[in-house]
Amino acid sequence: MRPSSTPTACLPAEANVAGLPFACHTPPPPQRRPGLSAAIAAAEKTGFVVTDALRVIVSVNLAFERQTGFTAAALVGTPIESLLFAWFKERSVAAKLASALPGGGKIFATHQAKRPNGKPYWADVSIEGIGPVPGAPAHFLLVCHDVTERRAHTEEMIRATAAIQDLDAQFEQAIARAQQLAVDAAVANQAKSAFLAMMSHEIRTPLNGVIGMASILESTALDEDQRECLRTIKLSGEALLAVINDTLDYSKIEAGRLDLEQVEFDVRACAEEAADLLASRAFAKKLELVCNLADDLPRRVIGDPVRLRQIFVNLIGNAVKFTADGEITIEGKVASTEGDTCTLEFAVRDTGIGIPAEKQHRLFQSFSQVDTSTTRQYGGTGLGLAISKKLSELMNGTMWVESAEGCGATFRFTLTTRVAPAPATPTAPALSLSPVRQVLVIDDNATSRDVLLRHLSHLHVNALAVATPAEASARLARGEKFDLVIVDHHMPGGSGPEWARRISAEGKKAFPVVLLNALGDTVNEPAIDGVIRKPLRRDQVQERVTQFLTRGSATRPTPAAPVNTLADTGKKRPLKILLAEDNPVNQVVARHQLARLGYQATMVGNGALAVDAALGADFDVILMDVQMPECDGFEATRRIRQARGLVRYPWIIALTAGVSSSDRAEANAAGMNDYLSKPLRPEALEGALARAWEERSVPSAD
Ligand code: ADP
Repeated sequence: MRPSSTPTACLPAEANVAGLPFACHTPPPPQRRPGLSAAIAAAEKTGFVVTDALRVIVSVNLAFERQTGFTAAALVGTPIESLLFAWFKERSVAAKLASALPGGGKIFATHQAKRPNGKPYWADVSIEGIGPVPGAPAHFLLVCHDVTERRAHTEEMIRATAAIQDLDAQFEQAIARAQQLAVDAAVANQAKSAFLAMMSHEIRTPLNGVIGMASILESTALDEDQRECLRTIKLSGEALLAVINDTLDYSKIEAGRLDLEQVEFDVRACAEEAADLLASRAFAKKLELVCNLADDLPRRVIGDPVRLRQIFVNLIGNAVKFTADGEITIEGKVASTEGDTCTLEFAVRDTGIGIPAEKQHRLFQSFSQVDTSTTRQYGGTGLGLAISKKLSELMNGTMWVESAEGCGATFRFTLTTRVAPAPATPTAPALSLSPVRQVLVIDDNATSRDVLLRHLSHLHVNALAVATPAEASARLARGEKFDLVIVDHHMPGGSGPEWARRISAEGKKAFPVVLLNALGDTVNEPAIDGVIRKPLRRDQVQERVTQFLTRGSATRPTPAAPVNTLADTGKKRPLKILLAEDNPVNQVVARHQLARLGYQATMVGNGALAVDAALGADFDVILMDVQMPECDGFEATRRIRQARGLVRYPWIIALTAGVSSSDRAEANAAGMNDYLSKPLRPEALEGALARAWEERSVPSAD
């Protein structure tokens, strides 16, 4: 603090001794420069008031006058208490300060003051008794500062801090709410998954009964009407099963619980098998179904064949559903390769109703169909594409659609996979026949012709194709010679068997004729020498053509050995079977299916009884339901393995609601040897029992 340059005449001597920095305004000493003093005084923001020992004001500085609006003239000679009461807005504060004054100690107050004109402001005030004798002040010194601005800042800061704290609190609340929501969602998700798993089991069990019993009835004597009713029961059961499977798959994907297998498989066969599965549906609608897979497609890759086939089946199924006439093509090629990893791109192309551009974004959403009207023509859950896309993503690929209304649709998807190190056998060995054999293809469908010609090109034969039987006849009339003719069954220009009969009758058939035949078509035409099944499979085409060209003309393929009747299976592979199943309907279905295969099984109704039975007698095979009361199939298996110490005898086959890789892992861990998914299918049951039989004859490693 700078000492004032304008000591006052009314200033007592002690004040100067104490070095008090205040100014007196009357009168200014003539020797000073008034301009400078005034400037210093004006710049000085600290207000001072000095009293005598009786607290009567003796001096006031200019800053005090400016700050408070009181004049020195009015204040000098009045008690400081009067000033306090006139100056402080709150009487109580003034009174408190005034009562503390006589003690002489330093007292402080930050108070709201008012100017004589009534304008309020904030001031920091301190008053202190000063003098050489403690407790008996010779003066009182009041020092004050205008802190209105500081208080405003402070208040602003307090408000800002409060606002920040408020935001912080809101933020924390939001985080807590989000965390709670996430926990709730996880709990809800778990509950949803558990509910779906339970629902699926509950629905599958009676469905198992419906489909199983329908299969059994099918093999009994029925009239046409009954057979038709039975067919509808089976189809409805299977449709319902597909819905349940889709729903369960979707919930598993949503919950991140769908694990893909990593096994070696034949990717070409996977696509061709899927096409085979839908062939009868496509051919019933007179649709052409062609697999056009590039030759460089790796033969064996590592991945999940079941899930890949599921994608194909879904896309081909949709293509069949939404196409009234034309063709469906399954394409596949290598999109890129890096080391032993490659990206494969597949497409399912149809000539159906197509999808309007503005509705395509809905396609891969769950439960979404393009036509949502109540009059919609096509059934479905709207889950298939959502599942297929997720599956392709789980395979490190993606899925998209190219389509326009009325112009068909092409669904494409990719997957990234490792190529299996096994040596590739891309095609059948080329035929080195001399002279090179001539093969004629007659097929109205251009894609099918192209695919066939490509398959034939690997055999090094001279193959050419025509679109109609008339063109083929014209070539024969021109004297062209062929070693083999492959003719399509149904063509607008006439049927294949008709054409074969005609040229045979005309004496022009100097070659075998092989018919391209859709599944289910019966052929009883002596002029037809063999059949190649549609949809075409490369291996099958090459094998059949090689067979005909190397065995000489008109050789009829040896008829297949008669298939064993199912009932012989039990005699051929006698097995002592224990069936552990708690559900009475499933018991009946399984018992009937086993009886059809020629087996009589011992039946128990829960896991504990299964353990007793397995330890009391020597069963070759136990068909063990996984979900049973008292002791489930896993636990029963563990107990049997513990007691017997063998891992392959008895051969334990799990009967499960769904065979996902986690189910398998659990069954394996429990010591089970094989798995069958419910509803039980006779062929699958027969296959599993055949495997059990083979294992039985393998020397035991246990
Ligand atoms: P859905 O079980 O209903 O067929 P999807 O998810 O497989 O379920 O298909 C959803 C919808 O996408 C279908 O209902 C249909 O509207 C449309 N869609 C799918 N594939 C095709 C296609 N090949 N041609 C035309 N529309 C299609």
